[in-house]
Amino acid sequence: MMSKKIWKSELLNLTIEIDHNKCTGDGKCIDVCPTDVFEIVNEKAICLTIDNCTECCSCIDICPVNAIKHSSCLC
Ligand code: SF4
Repeated sequence: MMSKKIWKSELLNLTIEIDHNKCTGDGKCIDVCPTDVFEIVNEKAICLTIDNCTECCSCIDICPVNAIKHSSCLC
């Protein structure tokens, strides 16, 4: 089963990838994201509004299991 979920923003020309094998659904990305990009569905983080991303990279820094990759952020 594919565990890596990928969201693309054509508007912002960026990609966010979340590894659902690693994600524990603790919601830290939701707490830290200034523009409410994420939501937890079935105990896994998903990108709901990727076009709102400000490329702050906070979600990358805070994820305790390094489940998130972002095309604009080094990880
Ligand atoms: S980079 Fe910043 S704005 Fe974009 S999804 Fe992550 S926390 Fe939200």
